[in-house]
Amino acid sequence: MTGHRSLARAPADGSSAGRPRCSRRAGASLPSRALLLLLLLASCDLPKRHDAGVPEPKELSSRRIAVVATTGMIAEAAAEIGGDRVDVRGMMGPGVDPHLYKASEGDVVRMASADVVFYNGLHLEGKLSEVFERMRNRVRTVAVTDGIDRGRLLRPPGFEGAYDPHVWFDVTLWMEAARTVEHALSGMDPVHVHVYRANGERYRERLSALDRYVRDRASVVPPSRRVLVTAHDAFTYFGRAYGFRVRGLQGISTVAEAGAADIQALARMIAEERIPAVFVESSVPVRYIEALQEAVRARGFRVRVGGSLFSDSMGDPGSPEGTYVGMVRHNIDTIVAALSVPGEPGRRDGAGGGDR
Ligand SMILES: [Zn+2]
Repeated sequence: MTGHRSLARAPADGSSAGRPRCSRRAGASLPSRALLLLLLLASCDLPKRHDAGVPEPKELSSRRIAVVATTGMIAEAAAEIGGDRVDVRGMMGPGVDPHLYKASEGDVVRMASADVVFYNGLHLEGKLSEVFERMRNRVRTVAVTDGIDRGRLLRPPGFEGAYDPHVWFDVTLWMEAARTVEHALSGMDPVHVHVYRANGERYRERLSALDRYVRDRASVVPPSRRVLVTAHDAFTYFGRAYGFRVRGLQGISTVAEAGAADIQALARMIAEERIPAVFVESSVPVRYIEALQEAVRARGFRVRVGGSLFSDSMGDPGSPEGTYVGMVRHNIDTIVAALSVPGEPGRRDGAGGGDR
């Protein structure tokens, strides 16, 4: 996906090295009024707001904490752990690509008045990093992946040394992210540590049960068919945690010439290993998967579309997939249903039709 190309260009050390603190470069992608506000907030010369900097814990313990969270997964963790101590505003709704998301004027205003902004980090929110940078001295910002042991993070080839940000599909890594949220809220509001600890333990217990569920379900798929072919490269942590080889079409969605060779290589693997199904995501054009199916068919094998997976955003609020647990369960159930049935060479697979 194009979003990952921007990730690949990000500095490996996570810094915005070389960029002047008052640079206007971020403004090109922002609405002009939001830009003005941002510049106002970031200006080196203007005096700080009267309540500039992070609020004192004493103040926070007597009112609800205003939280802004970037992705739906993070907003859920903050709401679960903060309970009735927090008001959480999520920035990115269903179907939003966090790699490409640009701050709206409303986002800037909400972030500027928040007590804490939780974000994923590891360059997931590539277009927001300069906004965070500018707000750093005025608003508390917490990257929920900061507490994860760097030894457990993946550095995929082609990302120029940067870490893969899609940690939420290894549920045990997301439990670490939840712990970081708990620690941040506890530090800001020590009077209510017992609340955050109890909520955090309860939430992590649910995630622990989810991790066991995914492991149990994954074990149903014969090892030879544990290959996850998707259009987007969000599932590498999932693959490592639950024993799937992961092959993405990433890189071919924007460069057609390079794509033909990649599609052929993937098609050869699918046909040779008789992988029964590949998966789509709502944000990636289905024509790439159709081209892959056609290339596999030319090699005498038929690969089904096994269903649609959630990758970087959750489902609609109120639907089962509108929660982190529901989204992860949907993915593993979809994967297991599609891959536990052997491929059937010669069968009409109805590409783009009934198999979706
Ligand atoms: Zn992604």
